[in-house]
Amino acid sequence: MTPERFKRLNEVLSRRQPDLTVLLEQVHKPHNLSAILRTCDAVGVLEAHAVASGRHLPTYHDTSGGSHKWMFLQVHRDVATAFHNLRASGFKIYAAHLSEQALDYRELDYTKPSCILLGAEKWGVSEQAALLADGHIVIPMMGMVQSLNVSVAAAVILFEAQRQRLKAGMYQASRLEAQNYRRILFEWAYPEVAEICQKENRPYPELGPGGELAPG
Ligand code: SAM
Repeated sequence: MTPERFKRLNEVLSRRQPDLTVLLEQVHKPHNLSAILRTCDAVGVLEAHAVASGRHLPTYHDTSGGSHKWMFLQVHRDVATAFHNLRASGFKIYAAHLSEQALDYRELDYTKPSCILLGAEKWGVSEQAALLADGHIVIPMMGMVQSLNVSVAAAVILFEAQRQRLKAGMYQASRLEAQNYRRILFEWAYPEVAEICQKENRPYPELGPGGELAPG
């Protein structure tokens, strides 16, 4: 770990937004999942969520650009569990869903804790998730095709969220709790050591000012 690399990890981590996320409902094509995670990294999402049945467990593709190393992906067993967990963390969940009640995606206030629900490539958002959601949003379509590729829709909406959050100064200082910040920084800097510590149920070693591991 060079001091420059450690500085970069700190800069990126201090821009992460713990209260902005996506929930992917059965998005199963690896290149779509990877492209969405790459966008999440670029926007500063801390952790993404997915609902996946056993048949469709998320797998990554080359399009991730390595971003899956910096993005946490939490997988939930079903829609109800995902909604329950996200709501318990304070999120409102907005379905990107081409329904009649959907608002233009630019009308939402993404500076509040927001989770964007995206539906499966073929079937879109399920009826259950559409009913449970706090609202529906749509990217207006003016052409012949009815919908965008799911990773494109995710990017359009997430960059609107980024625009609003930049304007509100939400990238200027770290928004993570200090303990959480230190934990993630260690996991990014020393993933192999972190894994050993987790297996052996040991606390992570302290890091020096340049990111160096304390001797011993
Ligand atoms: N036939 C599906 C349907 O009726 O929803 C199309 C699914 S689309 C390829 C995959 C996902 O991308 C959708 O479930 C939605 O979350 C998102 N999406 C695509 N185009 C969108 C748009 N114009 N507005 C909002 N979300 C969109």
